Amino acid sequence: MHSSEPSVPAGLEDLLDLSVRLGSDLRLVQGAGGNLSIKTDGVLWIKASGTRLSQARTRDIFVPMDEAATREAVLVTEALTPYVLPSAQAGGLRPSIETALHVLLPHTVVVHVHGVGSIAAGLTDGVEESVRTLPADVDTVVVPYAKPGVELARAVLARTPADLTGDRPLVLVLRNHGVVVGAADSATAAEVLDRVEAHFRSASAPPADVSTDSGPLSPPGTVDATAAAVLCAGALTPDSAVFLGPAPFGRIDGGPPAADDGSPHSGFVADDGSVWLRPGLGPDEREVAASLVDAARQTDGGDVSTLSTAQVDELVTWEAEKWRQQLKR
Ligand SMILES: [Zn+2]
Repeated sequence: MHSSEPSVPAGLEDLLDLSVRLGSDLRLVQGAGGNLSIKTDGVLWIKASGTRLSQARTRDIFVPMDEAATREAVLVTEALTPYVLPSAQAGGLRPSIETALHVLLPHTVVVHVHGVGSIAAGLTDGVEESVRTLPADVDTVVVPYAKPGVELARAVLARTPADLTGDRPLVLVLRNHGVVVGAADSATAAEVLDRVEAHFRSASAPPADVSTDSGPLSPPGTVDATAAAVLCAGALTPDSAVFLGPAPFGRIDGGPPAADDGSPHSGFVADDGSVWLRPGLGPDEREVAASLVDAARQTDGGDVSTLSTAQVDELVTWEAEKWRQQLKR
C-alpha cells in the first residue's frame, strides 16, 4: 500500500499518515493495539488484527472489506475473513477485532486508541462529570465496559442516539478500555482526539523505559500512593488482563523481582514509588505496563472500577485474542 500504487483510494493516504503518528505515540497506542478505518466507495479499509499502526507506511496493515456485507455480518459472527475483498484474500490479514464497531458507526473515519487520558477518565464514575466540560461541538458518549468485538459494538449502539450522523464528530469514552473518535476525515478525527486526550490528562508522562528490562520501568518517585492503589486494584483494561494477567501489578519491597518468585503479578510498585517489571516480558507487555503506570498517574483517586474475574476469563479464553497473542511470537 505505497503511495506509488494507483489503487490507493482518496483518504487512505491521510489515514496512513495518521496511523504512523498515533502508532508512534506510546501514550495512545501500545503494541498491536488501536485500530483505524475509513469507508470509501463501498469499501471499509480497516486495520488488520495483530499489526502495528506505526508500520502503516512500511507494510500492508489495512484490509479492504465489502462495507455493506460486513455491516450485515458483524452482528451475527466474528468470523469476518470471508468479507475481505477477493483481491486481498491472499494477503492472509485478518480484520481487526473491532470491525463491528467501525462499520456500524456512520462516520467516514473511525479511530480507536488506548489513550492514557481516556483510560484514566474511564476508571471512575467521575467520567460522567468530566465529559460535561468537553467542548460542545462534538457529541460525547460514555460507554460502560463491554468485551471488545461484537459486545462492545452493541454497547455503543445502545448508548448512541438513533439519529447519529457521520457529519458531526463523535467521541466514545469506553470505560476500562480507551476512546473512539468518529469524524468526516482523518484531520478532524486527529484534532478531536488530541483535544479529548488533553482534556483528560493531568500529569506529564513518567520517564518510562520500555526498551529494556534491566532497570525500573518507571524511576523512584513517579508513582504516589494514589497511583499505586489504582495500579494494584486489579485488571484495569482488556490489554492489562491479556498481556499482564488477572492481577497485573502488586507491591514489592525494594529492588527488582526474580523471574520465578511465584508471584501472580507482572509488575511491581516499590515503596520508593518506582515500578519494576518481571524480567523476560516482551515489548508489547512492557508498553502496556508503561501506559497503565501513565494512566494511573492521571487519576485523582476515587473508586476505581476493575474487570471482574468473569470478564478477565472471557478475555483470556477468547479465540480472537489468542490469535492476536500468537501473532506476536
Ligand atoms: Zn481497544
